[in-house]
Amino acid sequence: MSTIQEQMRTRARELLTSGEVKMVVGWEKGALWYMSPPAFITDPAEVDRLVWDEFCHNNLAKYLLDYKFSDDRLAIFVKGCDARGIIRLLQDKQIEREKVYLIGINCPGLKDERQGAVLGEDKRAELPLAARCQGCRHPAPVVYDELLQDEGTAAKGEVAATAEDRFTATAEVEAMSPDERYAFWTNHYDRCLRCYACRNVCPACNCRECIFDRSQSGWCGKQMNRSENMFFAITRAMHVAGRCIECGECERVCPEGIPIMTLNNKIIKEINTLFGDYEAGLDPEAMPPLGKYKLDDPEEFL
Ligand code: SF4
Ligand code: SF4
Ligand code: SF4
Repeated sequence: MSTIQEQMRTRARELLTSGEVKMVVGWEKGALWYMSPPAFITDPAEVDRLVWDEFCHNNLAKYLLDYKFSDDRLAIFVKGCDARGIIRLLQDKQIEREKVYLIGINCPGLKDERQGAVLGEDKRAELPLAARCQGCRHPAPVVYDELLQDEGTAAKGEVAATAEDRFTATAEVEAMSPDERYAFWTNHYDRCLRCYACRNVCPACNCRECIFDRSQSGWCGKQMNRSENMFFAITRAMHVAGRCIECGECERVCPEGIPIMTLNNKIIKEINTLFGDYEAGLDPEAMPPLGKYKLDDPEEFL
């Protein structure tokens, strides 16, 4: 059987040539060997740009927002976390299912690109799994129109972690005293550059206008200081509460290495405790725990 990469190119060529889709969204090799950024291909002659390697990290679902007002149909490759991002966008009514053709890939887990940058290409085969892939529970896409198969690729679910694995770092912070926790989070968020990379890659951050771009609103200023940075961190975490698909993209792209998933997972853990176990981005018909209200909901805090 041909490799996943060969199948990607073949299917992209067929879909573009037949006119079934106007564009194929996948990954290509960039300037650096340890990065495979997104590729947007409209010409069948260009499909050989597509790659499938251990650095195809970017969650492609987010890019569909750039085309949500287009009438064109797109094809997009989805590994496990991309597929959950697609469901996130469907649940948020940001995309229409019939306008995207989903080509699934069972993900074997991807490699840590920062380690790649440090260790060099000679050590490529020895690179560890990326942190987000070590805790991944759904490496196989949960939604697709067709699935590419390759006997040489890791089987479905091979890197799936247990439900509790993802709360290990969160539990360590929970075990701290309040002063220690405050020091932990301020030490990290004092480094925050407010670059918004974490927001920009996040499939759950899909508001038409983000609160952090409304500089005149008075909600949050542009200064980089402790109070503004903490407000940013907590507000973003709450805005994705119940909707975060745990793809780990926010933490992966943070240039300051802030453990954003520890905060996201704390909220996921609390939601599971309050409303029962729930994993976002698995069922397009499911209502997120914080996605509805009843008139008799408790409101002592208001
Ligand atoms: S988070 Fe899961 S699906 Fe996404 S790249 Fe890592 S192993 Fe693959
Ligand atoms: S990516 Fe990191 S540094 Fe940039 S805004 Fe987010 S938390 Fe701050
Ligand atoms: S908050 Fe982070 S882990 Fe959650 S959906 Fe957004 S990018 Fe993914």
